[in-house]
Amino acid sequence: MIEALNLINVSLEYPDGSSTLKALDKVSLSLRRGEFLSLVGPSGSGKSSLLAVAATLVKPTAGLVVIDGQDVSALSDAERTALRRDKVGIIFQQPNLLPALTAVEQLLIREHLRGKPVREEREKAAKLLDVVGLSGMAHKRPHQLSGGQRQRVNIARALMGSPTVLLVDEPTAALDHERSGSIVRLLRQVTDEFRTATIMVTHDTEFLPITDAVATMRDGRISRTLVPSSQPM
Ligand code: ADP
Ligand code: MG
Repeated sequence: MIEALNLINVSLEYPDGSSTLKALDKVSLSLRRGEFLSLVGPSGSGKSSLLAVAATLVKPTAGLVVIDGQDVSALSDAERTALRRDKVGIIFQQPNLLPALTAVEQLLIREHLRGKPVREEREKAAKLLDVVGLSGMAHKRPHQLSGGQRQRVNIARALMGSPTVLLVDEPTAALDHERSGSIVRLLRQVTDEFRTATIMVTHDTEFLPITDAVATMRDGRISRTLVPSSQPM
């Protein structure tokens, strides 16, 4: 079976005065569908850089990114954009919802831009709002929703494209403890239900046992992944 996501010896360098800064240093990682990986590590260790490269938003300086068996470096810009749309869901810390749109419209905006959404897309959006616990909230605008509810809309929106790979950067950073737990449990649920290969950057070590494995980054390098139950809590 093909891995959903493979990073092979991926390095990412940024110019830094007269030298270079290695944001990623020969990172290798592979994830199957239905696997949920936590990514932890100090600020500046390269976690967001890893997600940006896996999301095909940033080209690595060296190494390979393979999504569903496709080597991303072999694709044209247009093909890479299409691969991202079809295979990758991205969830950032701040939901970045459009203030004027209702919850269901946030999910359908891409379809709107390509023409009027068809019935299947509307049904899919309504179903996803149910899945993330927002039944009855489809017509609420962001200012009418709590921080946790906005993050749920964000998660539903990322699932609209039926992604293979779900990349989540500090989804609970703006939330209180109770809401944080429910968001991580929701990410576990959608990983299981939609069989996404999910990477979540987090600082909440308490929620690591909800995930399948933990990888730690330090100075652009990734450690061997551990199963959470073997970690001292
Ligand atoms: P983390 O998400 O773990 O806090 P980042 O991936 O954001 O870490 O950053 C890793 C390193 O790369 C840091 O030293 C950061 O300053 C640097 N970096 C990140 N993005 C850029 C950029 N666009 N240009 C230059 N340096 C960057
Ligand atoms: Mg970061």
